[in-house]
Amino acid sequence: MREVGCPEEDLFSFLSSKRREDIGYRNILSSMCTPPHPVAARAHAMFLETNLGDPGLFPGTAALEELLVERLGTLMHLPDAGGYATSGGTESNIQAFRIAKKQKPVKSPNVVVPASSHFSFQKACDILGLEMRTVPLDGEFRMDTEALDGLVDKSTVAIVGVVGTTEYGMVDPIVRLSEVAEDRDVFLHVDAAFGGMVVPFLDRPIPFDFRLPGVDSVSVDPHKMGMSTIPAGCLLVRNPACFSSLNVDTPYLTVKRECTLAGTRPGASVAAAVAVLEYLGMDGMRAVVAGCMENARRLIEGMETLGYPRAVTPDVNVATFSCDRAPAGWRVSTTRNGHMRIVCMSHVTRDVIEQFLNDMSDTNA
Ligand code: PLP
Repeated sequence: MREVGCPEEDLFSFLSSKRREDIGYRNILSSMCTPPHPVAARAHAMFLETNLGDPGLFPGTAALEELLVERLGTLMHLPDAGGYATSGGTESNIQAFRIAKKQKPVKSPNVVVPASSHFSFQKACDILGLEMRTVPLDGEFRMDTEALDGLVDKSTVAIVGVVGTTEYGMVDPIVRLSEVAEDRDVFLHVDAAFGGMVVPFLDRPIPFDFRLPGVDSVSVDPHKMGMSTIPAGCLLVRNPACFSSLNVDTPYLTVKRECTLAGTRPGASVAAAVAVLEYLGMDGMRAVVAGCMENARRLIEGMETLGYPRAVTPDVNVATFSCDRAPAGWRVSTTRNGHMRIVCMSHVTRDVIEQFLNDMSDTNA
């Protein structure tokens, strides 16, 4: 550290220079994050110093966390769902596995996840000492449920289905997973970190949430399609009592127990997440999602016209192509199978898509 602090102006000119090194979202087509909605940024600034790790000191902010859980629980067809605001999908997925493992104390526990699952499940298995069994995918990159049954056994503590896979934007057959989970009496966690803020707003929503009786928990991230500030995730559970298995004593805080993974937790991004939901409402979110889906369709059509076929028709706004080059200046990503992947977030407007397609066609020339 410096012996003597530096003048504010110098400091901020240094910070500005670093910030300028960042790439603006305008050309980022690879991210599941997006610039926060203006009401999110405003709410975030209002709650900057709040700490949900000691909720009795910030009862107003804590009430907003409860409201977030209630709103998202209602969106997932269970207004009484238990839950709390996490730092994102990774923490939600780890916590879901912790609950599942506590519920079934077996000698060598395993979990069964689709091959498409996010790498956060690898972290969760490593931390929790769980064997990860991987279910292959069908021709459309969804979990092949035929292969599922044989992988579940007496030591399976959880099955995972994904709603809006990170790489291909697919929704696993959660109806079938729910049946298997009920038949085999296994905890079913639905990772809807991305799709949880997309699928409920589609013209024809695909069933995936607590309406299905086998679903025990759901991850959903406001900091992705919910246009909140970072970090804002949410873990929802059917049975709020199951959080008690994670409790530790916190004698010197305003609450005597906590079940969260993090201790100090931001209230600002929770206020931001609530702000977007309240401001846009179902109607506003439907419009945002309809725009993103329309842009994904236009992108797919445009790329196919240029000779780059889609890898699959996605369920949500993630488009993938057989294409191995992107025009200079654009950030796209590549899936494990080598497909070009573009996430049509709200900053990826129709103009951006047209510009990208134009640049693609110049690369072709
Ligand atoms: N689950 C899914 C389906 C995701 O797409 C992601 C991130 O892209 C995660 C979990 C992890 O979320 P986070 O990066 O917020 O921890």
